[in-house]
Amino acid sequence: MVSNFLPSKYFSHFFSKLALGFIVLFLFSLHSGCSTPGRIKKEIPPTQEPIIQKKFSVDTSELEIRVLLDEFKSTLKYKVNTDVGIISNGEEIAIVKRGNTINAQLENGSILITLGRRKFESSSFIIISKTKTLLEYKNLKYRGEINLTAAENEIYLINRLPLETYLMGVLPVEMGVKENDSYFEAMKAFAIVARTFAIMRLNSGDKYYDVKNDVRDQVYRGANFETKFDNKAIEETKSKVLAYNNELAIVFYSSSCGGYTENVGNVFSRNDINYLRTIKDGYGPNCVISPSFSWRETYSETDFINFLFNSKMINTKSKRIDDIAIDDIFESGRIAKLEILFTDGEKVFLNNRNIRDVIRRKDNGGILRSTNFKIDVEKKSNSVSKINLIGKGNGHGVGLCQWGSLSLSEQGKNFEEIIQFYFPGTVIESPND
Ligand SMILES: [Zn+2]
Repeated sequence: MVSNFLPSKYFSHFFSKLALGFIVLFLFSLHSGCSTPGRIKKEIPPTQEPIIQKKFSVDTSELEIRVLLDEFKSTLKYKVNTDVGIISNGEEIAIVKRGNTINAQLENGSILITLGRRKFESSSFIIISKTKTLLEYKNLKYRGEINLTAAENEIYLINRLPLETYLMGVLPVEMGVKENDSYFEAMKAFAIVARTFAIMRLNSGDKYYDVKNDVRDQVYRGANFETKFDNKAIEETKSKVLAYNNELAIVFYSSSCGGYTENVGNVFSRNDINYLRTIKDGYGPNCVISPSFSWRETYSETDFINFLFNSKMINTKSKRIDDIAIDDIFESGRIAKLEILFTDGEKVFLNNRNIRDVIRRKDNGGILRSTNFKIDVEKKSNSVSKINLIGKGNGHGVGLCQWGSLSLSEQGKNFEEIIQFYFPGTVIESPND
């Protein structure tokens, strides 16, 4: 099933573009008089435009996406909200009436479904609505179908649907702004970025699904929150994706950058990328309109010791903190290296990639808003009484700044200008161009 997932046209299309690329390189080699391909590679820096403009595009109306909604260790009971059909190996094997429960069990790597006295076994089952009512799971409505898939030691509950339809469940929750015409260009820019992100995951996701339905990929809440405003932004940018050097661009976004975006290599385990480098997010900056632009967290010494203990950075809770220092910052102002010095002379270091996981928010225990903060350690009679973090921004800061883009949209910038601002040098491609 997985190998057939992407329409073959998508691949052939991609490879034909790839082939075109080689022809372009070959023609270039004739013109420049070079004979060895290795040498040609060196002489064309990645940022230089090739002599023939290459294009990358994909008809997204042909693509589907598999969104992981839930995971079950061994059994799952799925009460259906409407009459549904159960399909296995391309055949409808049963109809389950509204209000009944499908019992699924993992057995020897397969799923065993029990319906009354009948039992069915397969590595995956497809559940489709037999009425006009959308399927529901945990009080959320979903377009497309629900798949039950046997993974290693788990049953995955997956929503499979057209990629463009999936975006209708992403925009309203990821951007979450009320309908406002002055935000529309930002919504279009975001639709392109969210679409590009999703296609990026089609090629690099898990074997059984493409994206998770939460912040680990993109937040997706099905059909409940769809709005005409968001749908219009998706429709008007249909199939448009971001490309760079004839390849799908790698995109990231975060809520508010706090004034400067971040180099991708500083946050994620990958090399720096030309269009994902630190940029100044305007004067003001643009994302100052975000409610999380400025934040403050106040901890006790015990809170901090617990953070370090829970993350296995220290192996006893009886240590005492002497001081905390910022050893190194990135160009963006985010902390590259944080040093915690204990009274016994020992030190532990946190870096940009683990600071937010180790130090948690006081209100909900979630990850820290950003790594862009100053630290103020208060002491009373020579021991630490309070640790204050005074920070800016919300999120990793790489790529598009969501609040900044809303601000740019309000300032009259169009979606192309917004994209160019956060992903300089990329090209918006669409199969119709
Ligand atoms: Zn920003």
